[in-house]
Amino acid sequence: MKETHTPSASKSVKQGFYARVAENERNDKKKTVILAAVLCVLAIILLVVATMTANSLGKHVYVYGDRQQRIDKAQAMQNGIQFIDMNALAEFAGIEKTTSGNSVTYSVNNTEATFENGKSQATLNKIEISMPSPAVVKNGYCLIPLSVAKDMLLGVEVNANKNNTVITLNGNNIYMIAKNIEIKYEPNISEGLVEYINSTDPYIFKLVNKQNPVDNTFPEDKDSLLEIPAKYRKKDTIYLYKTALYPLQAMMDAMFSNDIDDVFVTSAYRRYDKQKQLFDGYVEKLMNKGMSYDKAYAEVLKDTALPGQSEHQTGLCIDFMTLSMDELDNTFEDTKAFKWLKDNAWKYGFVLRYPEDKVSITGYSYESWHYRFVGLEVASIMYQTGLCYEEYLEYFEKGE
Ligand SMILES: [Zn+2]
Repeated sequence: MKETHTPSASKSVKQGFYARVAENERNDKKKTVILAAVLCVLAIILLVVATMTANSLGKHVYVYGDRQQRIDKAQAMQNGIQFIDMNALAEFAGIEKTTSGNSVTYSVNNTEATFENGKSQATLNKIEISMPSPAVVKNGYCLIPLSVAKDMLLGVEVNANKNNTVITLNGNNIYMIAKNIEIKYEPNISEGLVEYINSTDPYIFKLVNKQNPVDNTFPEDKDSLLEIPAKYRKKDTIYLYKTALYPLQAMMDAMFSNDIDDVFVTSAYRRYDKQKQLFDGYVEKLMNKGMSYDKAYAEVLKDTALPGQSEHQTGLCIDFMTLSMDELDNTFEDTKAFKWLKDNAWKYGFVLRYPEDKVSITGYSYESWHYRFVGLEVASIMYQTGLCYEEYLEYFEKGE
């Protein structure tokens, strides 16, 4: 960018010449600075264009109530599939995020989703799901196909087009679940039995807990309670709801034939007044040890249901014991029976009703011995997802 100057002989002209040279040099410097700036801007524009071409990242508006937020890189398009950045979405919706190497785990309300960079398989509450395109986990964002985000999120509505990403939060609770879970069957169980296990009898879905009590007339049809054959119990007559009886027998027969012959049913259906008797009896026992009524009542309430709040009043659940146990407690966890039930109970439509990590949801202490009949479909979903029954009802029944 140097200009040519005509040299002159005279001093004044020379002085003028040097002045002009100096000025020209100043001008040159200015031009260089401007040029550099222009080049810089061009480079930035090129970089932005290149980035946008690579990921088609755009600016999108997230809307939450009356709050609006403009977030860059919220969305991307790759191979014709629309993606959304789970990090931006999680931040916006209050979903917790944990990054570990190539993968990100999101958790909210006891539900969990994990995505790994370059992987089309994601894990949704222990269930592996297939995505139409791999996740992209890098540079602080986690892009997943928009369709997957839409499908797995309950309580969050995601709508996106070329110019806009609008996220609406419906209600207070957000859950992440795999809605289309394949129901598993045990191939070795006969068709006739599967019909019982896979029952659609509405009674088997009855929820009884502290928030959903039953009165002393429940169940209305007392003929629906059948006697559990002596082979499966060690004491007096025990009754179970009819639909659960054959599945229970089949399950226990399977245990017997797997060398677990010390297991027996210690309790199943319990009448309202029996539950009251039981509760009052425990309170009295503690009071005899010197505890005040209030303290004893509170202590018993931790593990024992008030009359009306016990699932045993449905006739749909079983308390198991083994011959090695002195009383009904979590030493059941150390038995072969427990280990077998953990992997196999669901095949017969039974589930562990009060898991250790769900106490705050079920409202009851961990009971390794208490199994509830819910039928094959529900049991299969609960087994695969690790959800407890209250959660199952919340996400799969009301959540749809
Ligand atoms: Zn029980």
